[in-house]
Amino acid sequence: MKVIFLDIDGVLNCKTTPNPRQFPYVVDMRLLRRLNKLLARTGAKVVLSSSWRVDPAGLFAAKHWGVPFIDVCPDMPRSPRFREVLTWLKHHPKATRYAVIDDEDDELDELPLFQPSATTGLTPEIAKGVENYLNGKTEQTMRANVLTRIGQNIHSLFKRDKS
Ligand SMILES: [Mg+2]
Repeated sequence: MKVIFLDIDGVLNCKTTPNPRQFPYVVDMRLLRRLNKLLARTGAKVVLSSSWRVDPAGLFAAKHWGVPFIDVCPDMPRSPRFREVLTWLKHHPKATRYAVIDDEDDELDELPLFQPSATTGLTPEIAKGVENYLNGKTEQTMRANVLTRIGQNIHSLFKRDKS
């Protein structure tokens, strides 16, 4: 079984998500459709790592918006998020391949992390990256700091060209 550990804030919602009533728990339908396409293309199941899961209102909202999760990570308040992910995996040996989608690091660096910016949420590029990873086409993950590093490398290449 393929699994996506899913954060919601900054992944399924972003700076431009319409939220006229200022709900604390809002999902962007455009981003949710993108996730659903990714699930169809990979056969992956969603396990919520989002903090929404520890608030009954958040869990209710996730269901209300139609976020298709099959389970949630255990709540370990004193542990970083990656421990919660690893604990879930330990109890579910059927999970053969997994990816983590989270806009924050939360000490997730040891895991296959795909990290959209909270400004955009889940982009087509990141969704494609997760798809290729889960389908075994690549071992490449997409962390914000790596992308920044690539940007910096390109920048330094240009600088070198100029000098
Ligand atoms: Mg987040």
